[in-house]
Amino acid sequence: MPELPEVETIRRQLAPRVAGHTIVDAQVLDPLWCAPRDPEAVEHDLRGELIERLERRGKYLVLELEGERFLVMHLRMTGNLLWVDEGDDEPGRPHLRVRIVLDDGHRLLFTDQRRFGTGIVLDGAQALDAYMSERLGPEPLDPEFTPDVLGRAARGRRAPVKAFLLDQRRVAGIGNIYADEALFRAGIHPLKPAGRLRRADFERLHAGIVETLAAGIARQGASIDDYRDSNGDRGSMQDEFLIHRREGLPCPRCGRPVTKLVAAGRGTYVCRHCQPVPRRRRTPAR
Ligand SMILES: [Zn+2]
Repeated sequence: MPELPEVETIRRQLAPRVAGHTIVDAQVLDPLWCAPRDPEAVEHDLRGELIERLERRGKYLVLELEGERFLVMHLRMTGNLLWVDEGDDEPGRPHLRVRIVLDDGHRLLFTDQRRFGTGIVLDGAQALDAYMSERLGPEPLDPEFTPDVLGRAARGRRAPVKAFLLDQRRVAGIGNIYADEALFRAGIHPLKPAGRLRRADFERLHAGIVETLAAGIARQGASIDDYRDSNGDRGSMQDEFLIHRREGLPCPRCGRPVTKLVAAGRGTYVCRHCQPVPRRRRTPAR
């Protein structure tokens, strides 16, 4: 599933290509993509619109159109947003859900094998802000994201820190891969309750999040399953994983074998030496 680095890779590739171009045609081939809205209404909203920018919030791509209209897309499990030159064949054709044609002949294709990806049109900056603030916490690569911000978000939370990191309302954009990698970098066990971390933990976790997301972006994301960038190419972050999907292999820090467990319902990789198992809090004696 694409996480922040994968979505940001797509954004960086497409932003300069789409900005300043007009959508001459939009075809929503799969009504589920924009449900419950009528596909024809969405096509009508997009046709003739000038694209000003392509932005990202968390794992959402936001195509900003003239007059404060926004096409908000989420790739979910298997969505890809592909850039196709005029005259070239369309890749991923059996799974094509949306086709957007620009005034220079290029096409943007939303392909999606499992069809969980979505698109929604929002009118007005207020509507966009409301949509995002309901769903997303702070952006981890913004300068305003600090160890203090992370600590405040975790205050009083009994959920395991891995579940806390996966909750998009606490921190935006982190999924299963980068949560494992960030916790390993920070030396924190995924099952430790988020609210029991200390100041020094939040500093290490903050650094771990920022470093691992930056590493993911630098390698054009991780392609362990369906993820491809907008050119249809694989990322290479999967070759650089420190802990994720490395069960039985030596920990890059201490050499002991990496173990796998379940946290927040997800396969989770951990070095039990470098990420000590949390001690149970003793019930106070009466
Ligand atoms: Zn280790």
